[in-house]
Amino acid sequence: MQMYPFKEIEEKWQRRWEEQKLYKTIEPPRKKYYMLVMFAYTSGDIHIGHFRNYIIGDVIARYKMMNGYQVLHPFGWDAFGLPAEEAAIKHKANPEQWTLNNIENSRETIKRSGVSFDWDREVITCLPDYYKWTQWMFLKLYEHDLAYRGKSQVNWCPHCNTVLANEQVIQGRCWRCEEEVTKKELEQWFFKITDYAERLLNDLDKLSGWPENIKIMQKNWIGKSVGTEVDFTIEGSGEQISVFTTRPDTLYGVTFMAISPESPILSTLSMEPKYKKQVEDYIKKSSLCRGSIHRIPPRRGLINQAPTNKSDTDEKEGVFTGRYAINPLSREKVQLWVADYVLATYGTGIVMGVPGHDQRDFEFAKKYKIPVNVVIQPKDVNLSSDKMEQAYEEPGIMVNSDKFDGLWSKKGIDEVTDYVEKIGIGRKKTNYKLRDWLISRQRYWGAPIPMIHCEKCGTVAVPEKILPVLLPKENIDFFPKGRSPLEDVKSFRETTCPRCKGKAQRDPDTMDTFVCSSWYLFRYTDPKNDREPFSKEKVAWWLPVDKYIGGAEHATGHLLYFRFFTKFLFDIGWLPVDEPATELFNHGMVLDQNGEVMSKSKGNAVSPIDLMNENGVDVSRIAVYFAAPSEKEILWTGEGTIGASRFLNRIYNFASKVKITDLNRKFKLEALSDDVKTTYRKLHQTIKKVSEDILTLQFNTAIASMMEFLNQLQGLNPESSQIYSYCVEKLTQILAPFTPHLAEELWERFGYKESIFKSQWPEYDKKAVIEEQVTVVIQVNGKIRATLEVPQNTGKEQIERMALENDKVKNFIQGKRIVKTIHVPNKLINLVVR
Ligand SMILES: [Zn+2]
Ligand SMILES: [Zn+2]
Repeated sequence: MQMYPFKEIEEKWQRRWEEQKLYKTIEPPRKKYYMLVMFAYTSGDIHIGHFRNYIIGDVIARYKMMNGYQVLHPFGWDAFGLPAEEAAIKHKANPEQWTLNNIENSRETIKRSGVSFDWDREVITCLPDYYKWTQWMFLKLYEHDLAYRGKSQVNWCPHCNTVLANEQVIQGRCWRCEEEVTKKELEQWFFKITDYAERLLNDLDKLSGWPENIKIMQKNWIGKSVGTEVDFTIEGSGEQISVFTTRPDTLYGVTFMAISPESPILSTLSMEPKYKKQVEDYIKKSSLCRGSIHRIPPRRGLINQAPTNKSDTDEKEGVFTGRYAINPLSREKVQLWVADYVLATYGTGIVMGVPGHDQRDFEFAKKYKIPVNVVIQPKDVNLSSDKMEQAYEEPGIMVNSDKFDGLWSKKGIDEVTDYVEKIGIGRKKTNYKLRDWLISRQRYWGAPIPMIHCEKCGTVAVPEKILPVLLPKENIDFFPKGRSPLEDVKSFRETTCPRCKGKAQRDPDTMDTFVCSSWYLFRYTDPKNDREPFSKEKVAWWLPVDKYIGGAEHATGHLLYFRFFTKFLFDIGWLPVDEPATELFNHGMVLDQNGEVMSKSKGNAVSPIDLMNENGVDVSRIAVYFAAPSEKEILWTGEGTIGASRFLNRIYNFASKVKITDLNRKFKLEALSDDVKTTYRKLHQTIKKVSEDILTLQFNTAIASMMEFLNQLQGLNPESSQIYSYCVEKLTQILAPFTPHLAEELWERFGYKESIFKSQWPEYDKKAVIEEQVTVVIQVNGKIRATLEVPQNTGKEQIERMALENDKVKNFIQGKRIVKTIHVPNKLINLVVR
């Protein structure tokens, strides 16, 4: 195929845009649009999946520019984290140098793809001018009691030698190396995101522009339940244990307790030797492969789900401790079991077992011959525990429940709660599954935690005015030893206490990279500020983000963290909004033709550079847009570039026939012939369709409608008609967000001096998009039998079909055979029957 000269055109316009600073953001904005794509994690080369993400956002940004918005469309780099450190270990490279090289290569690739980023606002999270403010964020959280140090059992990856957040444990394995994750007790820094649980949950209702599935995932992850906490006494020791339940109406039916293997109570509970041994073996086994992390079931590469107990089909296992608690209401003995279907992190890590009314408990009780007590039954039915084949989980009448007998169980929930409150053995309680955010990492390549440990003063914050705490660059041994490499760097570790001026030690841990990415969207509004993280005035101009595009895999990680940061910064007066983004869009992935995720190691990754070198940027863009709606996966074969080339070549050829002298053309619609009117109508239908499809990100159908219009345009004679130029010009404008280089070139050739992106997006003619209706007469054997109202130029087959369905016509053709159909377009159809 003879291609239009894309190489010259693309180089010319990329140079021109840079010279003219076309994408430089203008402030203060009058009519603003903040278009944000998730910034890039510097783990290696940019592949076609990134390319897709960025060119999707680019269509929106350019469309908004042409609609008179001042657009903020920035880009940056999530540059701390493990890959750089791993490269340092493997290739003995310097992590900073490795990262910066990586950024340089990736930036070139992205610049090649013609995306309208304002590069003057680039942020790089691993540079001191950025992480200074990440440390500032930490100090602000600390100041407001939202950062604290706590001992905790943490997820520990023995391969990466580091702590992992719950969100980074995928089916019990490390999200990076897939090693089996174990547990370890460590002193760690946490952010108290749980203080915001209720608001993070309630404000999901404000996010009407977010996908429903993401909101549901966040809701489940936060996992709010309202219920009652009840105190049981351990028989023999008098020690108290509290359990949380949403079904206090079943309290009289409690016959056992299931204690999570990680629960601290097990270390104080005295047991007979034979039970003790059994329990210890069980705990050991469970922390190796069946720890609470095992019960977080997200699927790798897809979407994280909230932590739940193991699926109901799993075999329930447990061991008896030999000890009992006393049911405070029934006074009956309750067996204490250890069972790994209980999450240590939920409630108190102990759940009450009500086998009569909970299927999971029922199965457990049957397996271990624990008594089943019926305390709720359907109206007019007597349930008997030895005949039950499954738990009765529905509401019903309370029985065997002392003074509550005969009460409707739903009412019982409140009454039992009031009663236990009154007698002082329980209380109303709200529980969340959400845990505090563990942010300490025992790694080098991250923002140092700006805290100092002094023997005299305890933990002391680094004063704000001497930030940043710089990462040392010399003499680092990166090899993981299960402690931060910074712990061994004397020049870093040893410092003076800001309070007593005595000798003190810096905290050796660095922050989770998700801290860096929780606030980058604010920094873009004022990226060079060295006095503040951003100016309050500038951030107020731009926030909230109008559209945020990125992967759905961040549903319960980044997308929750950045909402938390936004609310916190709003509370302390730094932000004008308490939600960061009005609209969220999750683009689909690009997979290879077998549906496999692309990766360098598998050798199936497609480089956008190769693609663009071969086909040009605009053809590559069209091929990706056209492959599927933006939210759907693409199985990439590369074949789409053929159709895309043909399409753009056609446009190029059509445009070359435009006469510049026609540009100030005037034409009267009424004076046009019917054929030309149809083309005019089709053009405006196309403008309407493309405008609507851009807003819903259905670029494939937008492109299809432009392709279709080309067929219509073919019928116009470029020599004789000013409307030809008119049509090609409008088409070029609506194509511009998709193929910016080609559109700019054609626009210039049409004689325009300013960028096409400064031209006004065409408005569609509202009258023209409505199809003109005509009346078609239906004859049977030459006699008029009915009339039909149809859109102009409706085809013969369609009119015939409508005629045959018409009741008035049916009578005259029943039992007969159509031998001939005569059709006069827009006037009549005659059915000849015999
Ligand atoms: Zn790992
Ligand atoms: Zn001190």
